[in-house]
Amino acid sequence: MDFSSKLLENAVYEVSQLPGIGKRTALRLVLHLLKQPERRTDDLATSLVDLRGKIQFCENCHNIADTVLCEICANPKRDNSLVCVVEDIRDVMAIENTGQFRGKYHVLGGKISPMEGVGPQDLKIGSLLEKVKEGVIKELIFALSSTMEGDTTNFYIFRQLEGINVKTSTIARGIAVGDELEYADEVTLGRSILNRVPFEGSLRQD
Ligand SMILES: [Zn+2]
Repeated sequence: MDFSSKLLENAVYEVSQLPGIGKRTALRLVLHLLKQPERRTDDLATSLVDLRGKIQFCENCHNIADTVLCEICANPKRDNSLVCVVEDIRDVMAIENTGQFRGKYHVLGGKISPMEGVGPQDLKIGSLLEKVKEGVIKELIFALSSTMEGDTTNFYIFRQLEGINVKTSTIARGIAVGDELEYADEVTLGRSILNRVPFEGSLRQD
């Protein structure tokens, strides 16, 4: 692509580095921004700089937060004794959208995947076990995607909990195997949280 302006070329290059955006789309977006009032570009740039510079991770659940605790952990109406274990922040958003869960979360930051070199030590498993040992949590709900990596991660945590008095359950598998949580529709996902099954029972079915 030939550019008459180095400024234009740079902007198109930066936008085209985003996933799913080729050079043509990047050019269209950049030209669109040029037609907008300057304030729009300023707001876009500022919001991205702020996001990177100011974002924090909740010290309790590792969800994205603006302060030390995320809004969910800071909410006194949420049930401390019920914790939903998820892979990443998009899962928190998906489950929150169902409006069916009043407990708290624990964001692992991924799942165990030997193929990708991700081991238990790379995930927030240690802090989860510490929290469970404090004795406030009565039930852990595993809500990882039903892939081999998700199952491996569930099982690893389950084994680490041996001898600790906590109930474990898993979301009902109305969600097809291999589906990512964030793509499940809200009704199905909401129902699968309400109809969760004991974790050990889910193992025997497999
Ligand atoms: Zn939190």
